Amino acid sequence: MANWIAIANQKGGVGKTTTAINLSASLARSGRRVLLADSDPQANATSGLGVAPGPEEPSLYDVLIGAASFTDAVVSTAVNGLDLLPSSRDLAGANVELAGVAGRERLLEAARSASGSDYDEVLIDCPPALDLLTLNALVASDAVLIPIHCEYFALEGLSALMGTMQSVRESLNPKLSVAGVLLTMFDSRLTLSRQVAAELREHFDSLVLRTVIPRNVTLAEAPSHGLPALEYDLRCKGAQSYLELAEEILERARRPAESPASR
Ligand code: ATP
Ligand code: MG
Repeated sequence: MANWIAIANQKGGVGKTTTAINLSASLARSGRRVLLADSDPQANATSGLGVAPGPEEPSLYDVLIGAASFTDAVVSTAVNGLDLLPSSRDLAGANVELAGVAGRERLLEAARSASGSDYDEVLIDCPPALDLLTLNALVASDAVLIPIHCEYFALEGLSALMGTMQSVRESLNPKLSVAGVLLTMFDSRLTLSRQVAAELREHFDSLVLRTVIPRNVTLAEAPSHGLPALEYDLRCKGAQSYLELAEEILERARRPAESPASR
């Protein structure tokens, strides 16, 4: 059965999409069959993988409203083993349009149940909001990966995300766990980066992943070429750190599950 991971943090610009693209590509490179679902109306993961769906082509929005199946909407990418469920502008209206729909938090979960098991890993790139799209991702997923920008007050806002995860566990998805807290844009020369890392490790202990993503220009440049960093420059520090992250995530998934309540 596929392992579904939502990449979420309601704070903007923390590295969710960069992680979604590069972790997906790294997992695919290690032989996993991977699907990246772009659940952000900004569609950065879609364009960052070089995909530009036409207006008539189905997107994640059509899957959520039941107008298209997974198979209809999924497209292949330039990366071997990596498929994409693209975003579209329609997703921007989803919060309002779906507000009155019964079971609106479970639309992605329903799509998951109907999707079969073509993939080993499904990653969901969430928008920077604790909105209905993020809620759908949390309800449909097994775990949440939380990227944190090391150059800002990182704990700010995290309690809101943890609170939302707790209420999702209580009412909609008891199995939801934390895949890890990921330090992104780390710059070892900056005192602030080092302070944020220390603070997070103290607060979240083993939930913080060992792998740290450094600030790396290739990670920022590769999306404009429609490619993950490893397809663009495999040896760069950014690509290497996401390959290391993929190994760590797979290693954690092989360990016996801790109960969600202990996380
Ligand atoms: P949003 O909340 O808007 O969806 P996000 O959390 O998805 O943002 P990204 O889009 O991944 O964040 O990253 C924000 C910006 O920082 C982008 O311009 C991206 O290229 C850059 N960036 C992300 N990670 C790194 C990194 N490790 N090194 C250098 N630049 C990075
Ligand atoms: Mg993003």
